[in-house]
Amino acid sequence: MRSENMPPMKINLPLLLLLSWLPAAAVFAVDTKPVAGRLQAGAATSNITPEIGGDIVGGFVPFPCTDIHDELHARCLVLDDGKTKVALVVCDLLGMHRSLCVEAKRLIQDATGIPASHVLISATHTHSAVNALGERVRGYHSDQPLTGYQTFVARRISDGVRRAIATLRPAEIGFGSVEVPEHVFNRRWFMRDGTVPPSPFGKMDRVKMNPPGGSADLMEPAGPTDPAVSFLAVREPGGRMISIFSAYSLHYVGGVSQGQISADYYGLYCEALKRLQAGAEQFPPFVALMANGTSGDINNINFRTPRKSLPPYEQMRYVANDVAKKVQEAVAAVEWKAEATLDARAQELPIQWRKVEPELLAWAKDVEAKVQDAAGKNSMTAVYSGRVQRLAQASPETKTPAQLIRIGDIAIGTSPCETFAETGLEFKTRSPFKHSFMVELANGYYGYLPTPRHFELGGYETWPGTNYLEPQASVKLMESLLGMARELAAQKP
Ligand SMILES: [Zn+2]
Repeated sequence: MRSENMPPMKINLPLLLLLSWLPAAAVFAVDTKPVAGRLQAGAATSNITPEIGGDIVGGFVPFPCTDIHDELHARCLVLDDGKTKVALVVCDLLGMHRSLCVEAKRLIQDATGIPASHVLISATHTHSAVNALGERVRGYHSDQPLTGYQTFVARRISDGVRRAIATLRPAEIGFGSVEVPEHVFNRRWFMRDGTVPPSPFGKMDRVKMNPPGGSADLMEPAGPTDPAVSFLAVREPGGRMISIFSAYSLHYVGGVSQGQISADYYGLYCEALKRLQAGAEQFPPFVALMANGTSGDINNINFRTPRKSLPPYEQMRYVANDVAKKVQEAVAAVEWKAEATLDARAQELPIQWRKVEPELLAWAKDVEAKVQDAAGKNSMTAVYSGRVQRLAQASPETKTPAQLIRIGDIAIGTSPCETFAETGLEFKTRSPFKHSFMVELANGYYGYLPTPRHFELGGYETWPGTNYLEPQASVKLMESLLGMARELAAQKP
């Protein structure tokens, strides 16, 4: 394992005298030499709000951003066990192309020595952000040139990690988990025979995504939810909270005003949790992070009752405040430890893109030939005809990223997809670590990841163009994560 220790800093008197004239932040850094075996932590945020005018990507068809409701951030937590550092970054974005993450990790490694394998970068899945997926709309590729905004985000992620390192200080760590079932609902439903509409491909699905709320045709959800908010909390020894990294399996909440940028409930949760901390405004400020767990089939809509309409931001604020309150209560039960072995593994998996059969491609070309006007181009059938044709020309390799971060007796497994709740639950059960959870939309974006069972059931998340990867992808990802977890668990604590 490569060490990222910097050579020990020699402190001399003239330097100290010079530093005594510098602002508090600079002097602060002098006290933070790594000490072997003692855990340190630092956290910082980096603003990634785009300019007004770009296209907001969360809708079925992009529309322009006309205002900013709340700022978007890359939220960064760095841990250092005296030998090894890991960086955890959560960005207020719908998703990030793999190439953006590769570039951010390159910048971080150049500036700090933390290798790419030890940096976890994920997106929250806020639907009110501009595009950081780059040229996805023009093709399915593992590598692509970055847009201006993607380049900006990569630099801001790297800046955030550097700023977090500048605040590294002795820390204690603890794991916690709290059940918050009331905000998560499985959105894929079995419905009465003949009531699931045909797919854009003219095929009959057995389940419907986002069915009409309260409909008499609803039978049962097609999968479970994962109601747990898993979190790791770090604080100054016996004192002020440094950061809480959390993950909850909730797709997003939504309900923004048209055209506004917002970090959705993820950002509001982080602010709410910060307000609950004593001394959160002191330097360095407390930083909360809310990563997305495994929520590809989970949202905030209770389908058993008709949907009520609320003023903008009301529901996301309600969810954010409630989850923050419950996590804060659970922090009181955390068992604090002054040491935690840090390690990480990363792999690029030989998973294939979803295969486009010749008859499907023929269907797509036929649809395209028949489209007449702008309204026809935006129809669901035409959009999928375009996606299928681009998927048929995908780059040879997916380079699907999988990563395992070990923090003491905690394992975080990652997926680059909108991953189903049952995958996250399986990882929690099968991982050899005492505490385990998954973070999705990590280190790249590769569409939805249904399990093989769900491919049989059909529905939106399984349609080619919504799903990019082969039907066995979730199984291969799980094997990779468990393999890396077993390898790291076998090493001494
Ligand atoms: Zn989604």
